[in-house]
Amino acid sequence: MKIDISSIQGAKGASLDFSVTNNRIPLVFPAAVKKYVEPVHVVGQVTNAGKFFLVQGQIQTKLATVCDRCLEPFEYPVVLDFEVEFGQKNQVTEMVLQEKELGSLDDIIYPYEGTVIDLSRSVEDELGVGLPVKILCSQECKGLCSSCGQNLNVGDCACTEESIDPRMEALRSLLPKTIE
Ligand SMILES: [Zn+2]
Ligand SMILES: [Zn+2]
Repeated sequence: MKIDISSIQGAKGASLDFSVTNNRIPLVFPAAVKKYVEPVHVVGQVTNAGKFFLVQGQIQTKLATVCDRCLEPFEYPVVLDFEVEFGQKNQVTEMVLQEKELGSLDDIIYPYEGTVIDLSRSVEDELGVGLPVKILCSQECKGLCSSCGQNLNVGDCACTEESIDPRMEALRSLLPKTIE
């Protein structure tokens, strides 16, 4: 995922649009994710911010996964906005690199060499932290019945809703018998 920045390297404030694709970004996602269904596509803009190059972009891809709630396989579209900085390799300090090892993404400055910024590592990192821990087929997913395992999106099961919360049971025992 390489971007040639030679055209803006000498001009502070200048920016350029980019669009890159990679289908070999490693999977570092929640365990439920099986594979990419589409290559990882990144569009955005690089700006020469003087000391650093600022990359603002959007990661787009699609993943094969299973719903965390109903366990059905489905395809999850990823649309992830991100912003990262790149600094010339010999100017990026040891300290910044150490922070990266500690896993804090906020203050990372990714190194680049020469006239090319390689987004691969930063995109891998963004995908690693940017996806929800629990991926749902839909926000309205009803999940599985806790008694029989029926997928409640498909239809109701035969289980009654008589599994009463013990705290409710305690309250109910306080009520006058006539109410029951
Ligand atoms: Zn679901
Ligand atoms: Zn049931």
